[in-house]
Amino acid sequence: MSSANPVCPKDFDWSKHYPIVAKDSPKCVEFLDIGCGYGGLLVELAPMFPDQLMLGIEIRVKVSDYVRDRIDALRKTHEGKYGNISVIRTNAMKFLPNYFEKAQLSKLFFLYPDPHFKKKKHKWRIINTNLLAEYAYVLRPGGLVYTITDVIAMNEWMVSHLSAHPLFERVTQEELEQDPIVPKLYQSTEEGKKVYRNKARGENHGDGEVRVAVFRRRPDPPRT
Ligand code: SAM
Repeated sequence: MSSANPVCPKDFDWSKHYPIVAKDSPKCVEFLDIGCGYGGLLVELAPMFPDQLMLGIEIRVKVSDYVRDRIDALRKTHEGKYGNISVIRTNAMKFLPNYFEKAQLSKLFFLYPDPHFKKKKHKWRIINTNLLAEYAYVLRPGGLVYTITDVIAMNEWMVSHLSAHPLFERVTQEELEQDPIVPKLYQSTEEGKKVYRNKARGENHGDGEVRVAVFRRRPDPPRT
């Protein structure tokens, strides 16, 4: 689980991350949690989708070390379980195509992303027009982008950028109600738990309203 970035996806040995994957196996990561923090979503989803490989990407060294230790401990105490989740410390804004092939992923998660409130810091927001082209590249047609935040400005930013992109379309409320992942978005992560703890105490640091928005990767337009 080192932080050296591979030159291209085929250079990366995923078997070191996942005990359920044999070396040179074609099995690949399909769910990606970008800015996974302390890994709560991965831990929640691991038993729900035992055959899917899931990865968290986290830029902070100590936090990604924590997630690695958390997963190791879970694997030890629950034999044969949690072999489908792992974490990498890297900068998701720079290195996604080093790790993932075109159309490899079926789900991308952005849970409570950093809002970077000041206008001159908006370029650090994890969803922006340039990065959406990269997310569309690694996500397969029909794949889903899940977002959640308690900062209204951040929800509006993500929704407006995703809605404006020709390769994404918003998933309807009716569809969200059928998706077993959606209820897990709210409080499985540490940031989500904090938001709800603060709400219960009447101490809102965000806007007091938690908003989910999910978008589907459209098929590529036909080549002319
Ligand atoms: N998703 C987690 C949760 O809900 O608890 C963490 C939310 S926290 C507000 C945002 C996380 O994104 C932080 O852990 C931060 O270190 C990470 N992050 C920010 N920019 C990143 C980047 N470029 N690549 C990877 N992780 C990043």
